[in-house]
Amino acid sequence: MIRAFVVGHPIAHSRSPLIHGHWLQEHGIAGSYERIDVTPEAFPAFLASLREKGFAGGNVTIPHKEAAFRLVESLTPRAETIGAVNTLFFDGSERLCGDNTDAPGFVAHLDQSLGLDWTGRGGGTALVLGAGGAARAIVVGLLERGLARVRVANRTPARAEALVALDPARVEAVAWYDLPDAMARTGLLVNTTSLGMVGHPPLDLDLLPLPEDAAVADIVYAPLETPLLAAARARGLPAVDGLGMLLHQAVPGFARWFRVTPRVTPALRARIVADLAPA
Ligand code: NAP
Repeated sequence: MIRAFVVGHPIAHSRSPLIHGHWLQEHGIAGSYERIDVTPEAFPAFLASLREKGFAGGNVTIPHKEAAFRLVESLTPRAETIGAVNTLFFDGSERLCGDNTDAPGFVAHLDQSLGLDWTGRGGGTALVLGAGGAARAIVVGLLERGLARVRVANRTPARAEALVALDPARVEAVAWYDLPDAMARTGLLVNTTSLGMVGHPPLDLDLLPLPEDAAVADIVYAPLETPLLAAARARGLPAVDGLGMLLHQAVPGFARWFRVTPRVTPALRARIVADLAPA
């Protein structure tokens, strides 16, 4: 029986067991996907024990993504660029390898929600709000997908400026007070800040400057319909919620461990939406 896991601290809130459990059932695979709570102090020993415990690999979440990046025996080029690991597997030489699937997960979700030609909106331009860990993965994903210009605005400007080094010819840091001007030149607006999430204030932004062909994405998925997405719909712009990124980032890990590439279907989405709904 193939075994995989998600490790974090805390971990009770993770929807990953539900996602992978759905796919194991759908494909009739006699595997398991466990939720494991490990403190930061115990994380190095946990990683070292994976072989002897018989795991094929697993997902890594807060607060271990950077520690996993430092501790694995090899990295995919994408994880190396992003500087954080969310997926572990054993490579052909049986080395513990770290990947980051947030970038392709976000892009795959846009492909599915907006159609493959979304990259042409606004002449291939995006504006990313926020410059934390998720923003870094998203900027990498947008660059990999070939966007011509990716602008980043963040409350703490230095963190946005740090992302410019990913590709100085295509990534630009913009000041928060310059957002109306940057929005007017944007085909895709992405919120990667925690604003709009349950327990946080909403993102207070007037979407009027966005061009007619712009799309708006939020990676917050609790709630599913953030005030930002509601404002985008009210303006008649396509609005893409954060749940799809969570579902799509899970695909590469499942494919590596269980040797079947699963699909993100309406049935899977409905199952997670039901779980997210307040009781
Ligand atoms: P992070 O590294 O802690 O970054 C948080 C970001 O939010 C930073 O840019 C921070 O700005 C900004 N921020 C926080 N409070 C703010 C405020 N009051 N005003 C303006 N900006 C504020 O977190 P992360 O890992 O990138 O995650 C960010 C969000 O994405 C979370 O809501 C998380 O749940 C969500 N997420 C979703 C997925 C998915 O699959 N859909 C995946 C990963 C993350 P400063 O730099 O100025 O502090």
